[in-house]
Amino acid sequence: MTSHMFGRGPGPLPTAVRGEGCYIYDSEGRAYLDGSGGAAVSCLGHSDADVRAAIHAQLDKIAFAHTGFFTSEPAEALADLLIAHAPEGIDKVYLLSGGSEAVEAAIKLARQYHLETGQPQRHKLIARRQSYHGNTLGALAAGGNAWRREKYAPLLVETHHIMPCFEYRERLEGESEWDFGQRAANALEEEILRQGPETVMAFIAEPVVGATAGAVPAVDGYFKRIRQICDQYGVLLILDEVMCGMGRTGHLFACEADGISPDIVTIAKGLGAGYAPIGAMLASSRVYEAIEQGSGSFQHGHTYHGHPLAAAAGHAVVNAIVTRNLCDRVKTQGDVLQAALHDTFGQHAHVGDLRGRGLFRGVELVEDRATKRPLDPARKLNARVKKAAMAEGLICYPAGGTVNGREGDHILLAPPFIITDDQIGELVGKLSRAVETALAQ
Ligand code: PLP
Repeated sequence: MTSHMFGRGPGPLPTAVRGEGCYIYDSEGRAYLDGSGGAAVSCLGHSDADVRAAIHAQLDKIAFAHTGFFTSEPAEALADLLIAHAPEGIDKVYLLSGGSEAVEAAIKLARQYHLETGQPQRHKLIARRQSYHGNTLGALAAGGNAWRREKYAPLLVETHHIMPCFEYRERLEGESEWDFGQRAANALEEEILRQGPETVMAFIAEPVVGATAGAVPAVDGYFKRIRQICDQYGVLLILDEVMCGMGRTGHLFACEADGISPDIVTIAKGLGAGYAPIGAMLASSRVYEAIEQGSGSFQHGHTYHGHPLAAAAGHAVVNAIVTRNLCDRVKTQGDVLQAALHDTFGQHAHVGDLRGRGLFRGVELVEDRATKRPLDPARKLNARVKKAAMAEGLICYPAGGTVNGREGDHILLAPPFIITDDQIGELVGKLSRAVETALAQ
């Protein structure tokens, strides 16, 4: 029978009917090991009893109360919990329904901040190539991935993209890691000066780049220099932790590893762990107070933002991450995963790089290890790996365009934090077979 679902792409797809721990089961009874949490979402696996109970309990109290009229207990509790663990200076939480919404809100808040502080000429956003910030028009404009932007280019607002801090691809022969990081960060200063510092509103970056580059952390010193540059020129720093935040890299907020605090930070995905659609934009007290003491309110809002069921889910998830010490577990299991990847792919002729932090790992596939030459994009290797992995009973997140938006293939891995050593073995074994099948085609 023809499906009336307007799906993402070529179907048909299996029907997911049940989740248990790290596995999803389809209607035919097949099990899939969730090696990527979908897209870095399902951090607690698919059957967390506490999160389920929190949603049930909230549903029985009240499902919805419009945020124009009421606040709610779960929203207040979630905001308190996030702020108790947030980077220094971050003090307010604006709850939304996903990552793109959080990024849109962040961009608009940056603009309103400059209006409130008497700098109406500041409207330009600087971002990085090979980044992804979401699919709504503002977030898509911020993103620096060529193929995702291409079709919608005439609709996208002016954004300026600088080089990413992508060591494997961008560090020069003979350049130290530190010098590379400083050079990459100084590209921001050059761009600010090119645009005119008085016109630049904000810089947005993912602390660990996810979907479009495959788990690329910045090198040491990069974000400290970025923070200095933003401060020097009065540019707000927005960190997009939609994918890398909420424990994924072994820190509740990924930027802890970089030793800096942003002015605004966005989170989603792991915040709801797949149990509810939720995202959030968190702002520093400096940014919030400028609005409060200026026009009094942030000119934004959605009908469903701050939804009590989603907030109850988010609170139960963050509570689980904190009270079960899951960030420590992410570090340990992340090391186990990285070691297993090294054992299997470390000498593989078509694996150029194994990278990432915690349980956020990237495998970059290449034609030639020595020259880092990418595979011919016409081979669509990433799509083949995805298909072959599904046939093996493994969910992973391969993507193309790793090098420049058109060339390059990587596989993103982001399994649930509860993954065991045996399941890591299963993941890497299935992935290895899927890669060989795809390469043989
Ligand atoms: N920002 C980053 C860093 C992301 O990885 C994503 C999604 O992959 C988004 C924003 C958009 O989030 P959503 O798909 O929930 O709208």
